[in-house]
Amino acid sequence: MQQILINGAWVDAREGPPLEIVNPATLERLGTVANCGARGVALAVGAAGAALPGWHALGASQRASLLREIAVRVRTRLRELAKLLTEESGKPLCESSDCVEAVAALFEGGAALAESGVAQAPAGVVAAITPFNFPLLFMASAIASTLAAGRTIVCKPAQQNPLACLRLVDSFQGLPAGVINLVTGGPDTGAALATHPDITHVKFTGSVEVGTAIAAAATTSNRCVELELGCVGALVVCRDADLDVTVPALAWARLFNGGQVCTSGKHIYVERSIAADFVERMHQCIGFLDVDDPLKRPTDLGPLISLASAHRVEDQVGRALREGAKLILGGRRFRPSGLPGHFFQPTILADVPEAGVPVREEILGPVVTVTPFADLPEAILRCARAPRCPIALYTGDPHGALRLLKEAAAREFRINGPSGGAMGPFGGIYHGEVRRLLDAASAHDMAVSVERKAWWFPYRAREIA
Ligand code: NAD
Repeated sequence: MQQILINGAWVDAREGPPLEIVNPATLERLGTVANCGARGVALAVGAAGAALPGWHALGASQRASLLREIAVRVRTRLRELAKLLTEESGKPLCESSDCVEAVAALFEGGAALAESGVAQAPAGVVAAITPFNFPLLFMASAIASTLAAGRTIVCKPAQQNPLACLRLVDSFQGLPAGVINLVTGGPDTGAALATHPDITHVKFTGSVEVGTAIAAAATTSNRCVELELGCVGALVVCRDADLDVTVPALAWARLFNGGQVCTSGKHIYVERSIAADFVERMHQCIGFLDVDDPLKRPTDLGPLISLASAHRVEDQVGRALREGAKLILGGRRFRPSGLPGHFFQPTILADVPEAGVPVREEILGPVVTVTPFADLPEAILRCARAPRCPIALYTGDPHGALRLLKEAAAREFRINGPSGGAMGPFGGIYHGEVRRLLDAASAHDMAVSVERKAWWFPYRAREIA
């Protein structure tokens, strides 16, 4: 696929050598995509600008019905999209199926938003720049909300795995030409899009580093920037937490998508009196996960997205050990079933020192890291005082914990992970100062207890559509 989508047609727009897309589990070459650079971006933004008046004039109910049609087409292509997503991203097939189903639901949500009349975006063309870890999901989220608001869009998926996003275009038939445009390329293409003078609104999901640069570049223009960024955050487990449910909950929260997750709760604090039991149970839980080719069932964990990612995780684990953390499980790259891809063993690091690597840096890999704490007031104070540290707390006494969190003036917290799949504050809280994209949930949520979810590990029990 060497072309980009401009004004409803596939066109050539190459500025540099094409980008190779590789299956991260097998290292098979899946194809190449264009590195379209500033020239392709200019064409795409021009097309989106030209389509804007017609799309805006169409009226909310017609826009809603077109969005619903997209959802229907996505569902009919669920298997095909999920397989491609797995091949280029390394996600276990059931996770990819869930992602595609969520994409269809996002378009339905966009339709409802259009009909409700509350969908809003600044006038003009929107740019969506999205990360490798949930390529379809973040692109669909940006498209659905933009189209619902009567705006048009230029999307740039991540350079590692844009193929499923390109294939999603098949589901856009019926839309007026130019409403959705899709460019491919690396950071240069992203920068050209984010700074194009005719873009009035950038929706960026990705690293703190890139998001901060995009926001800084926008301060001299009238461009609106929405950010969903990375974060570490704290998962706090109290001695009265129900470990039968909390351990599998956190194992899944940390390790789904190979641990390449954007949820803010990444480092685990456990009350000292139960720390050994917690670590032992975590070992039992993730030590038996099926790490293999993600296309095979019932693989729980696939590879990391690239060799660079695998090296980064290896380096982070090595530095954490040198700082005094204790290796309980894993810690290395390896070749499950002889596969040559970028696999990393499910890993547990215990006794991580107070300001160790896992507390300072986002680890995008299958690594569970644990620091013991003395008692709940100590943990809350420690997290509430740390800059940019959202808290997800697991306890049998949610009301007592709530009182302590409020006394400590904790800004962002959840108790017993009530807000769905991610089991913790979602996605780069504190960095998205302008406006966040996805998180409609309150920053303060509480449930009496953690509920076991059907989508947690192990995946051998899961049916795939
Ligand atoms: P990244 O920031 O490296 O890349 C994201 C996108 O930005 C890619 O499309 C990339 O090509 C583009 N890009 C790179 N440099 C650019 C530049 N200078 N100007 C404009 N665009 C540029 O992030 P990644 O490695 O793909 O994704 C992982 C990160 O994303 C993690 O930090 C993760 O926590 C975060 N993330 C956050 C959320 C959330 O909801 N908060 C969701 C997913 C991922």
